[in-house]
Amino acid sequence: MFHEMINFYKITEMAQKRVLITGAAGFIGSHLCDRFIKEGFQVIGMDNLSTGSMKNIEHLFPKKEFEFYFHDVTKFVHVPGSLDYILHFASPASPIDYLKIPIQTLKVGSLGTHNLLGLAKEKKSRFLIASTSEIYGDPNVHPQTEEYWGNVNPIGPRGVYDEAKRFMEAITMAYHTYHGLDTRIVRIFNTYGPRMRLNDGRALPAFIGQAIRGEDITVFGDGSQTRSFCFIDDMVEGIFRLLMSDYSMPVNIGNPDEITIKEFAEEIIKLTGTKQKIVYEELPTDDPKQRQPDITKAKKILGWEPKVSRAEGLKITYEYFKKIIEK
Ligand code: UDP
Repeated sequence: MFHEMINFYKITEMAQKRVLITGAAGFIGSHLCDRFIKEGFQVIGMDNLSTGSMKNIEHLFPKKEFEFYFHDVTKFVHVPGSLDYILHFASPASPIDYLKIPIQTLKVGSLGTHNLLGLAKEKKSRFLIASTSEIYGDPNVHPQTEEYWGNVNPIGPRGVYDEAKRFMEAITMAYHTYHGLDTRIVRIFNTYGPRMRLNDGRALPAFIGQAIRGEDITVFGDGSQTRSFCFIDDMVEGIFRLLMSDYSMPVNIGNPDEITIKEFAEEIIKLTGTKQKIVYEELPTDDPKQRQPDITKAKKILGWEPKVSRAEGLKITYEYFKKIIEK
């Protein structure tokens, strides 16, 4: 009986896949940790907490399926044991963050990716990087297909993020073609949901936070610029499917339901019932005028498309922020 049990544990241990998620304490990273644990993986989360928060993952600490490494991936990365998958999600990801820490933003996308690619090669792991719609810059092609090469200002304020992510794609493809590494590239469009930081400067937390605190809603420019917002659960599903697919070229994951920022602010005013008005402020440099993912590839290759409407997703996110602010 005892031997049988040992064998049983050995078998389940062998069958359990191990995944390293960098940026684990961040918004998308922490939701990925949840998902992989739910799928029966052993999850190793890594973060240096420069923009992430332990609050996003503290519920995972009692679980034996979860381990956490407080580490900066721009330094040599070592993880003992096997790693079946590595997902590189560590990076500042909002304009305010990468304006505040531009050098770290460049380093985590370049040096950090290089270190993790080395680890993936050593461990023979499948490697997925979090790329972004920002690699399309202020796009001249609309909606953006994966074949579009983008319109990026390398020396503008967003250049540190955009070019780091472009380098990240380049070095990942180089490891794929030169070393035969098994790689995946997801191009993430605007994503929202619980665990976003209230003060990260992004439109959605800014608008909801202002509405709850009774402040005016600050729309940058004339608000005619567009974005397309994807709910976090849809994003995680898309990333999971891409990782499990055998497709190594970039795939856009995002919600194609496009809206102007002014209309978006109006939706939030309606949702929150605030009496505040919209005030207009200067448009930040190189702020993309329009953005909408072409998700034909994701639909065809992954059988994926978003399921959560903006109305549903915003309601869930509003409830989350309300609780945080009330606390
Ligand atoms: N934005 C705004 N008011 C704010 C914060 C952002 O009007 O308080 C605008 C911003 O200029 C951009 C859009 O909302 O045009 C989306 O901004 P976000 O930072 O969320 O995402 P990104 O620009 O990276 O897509």
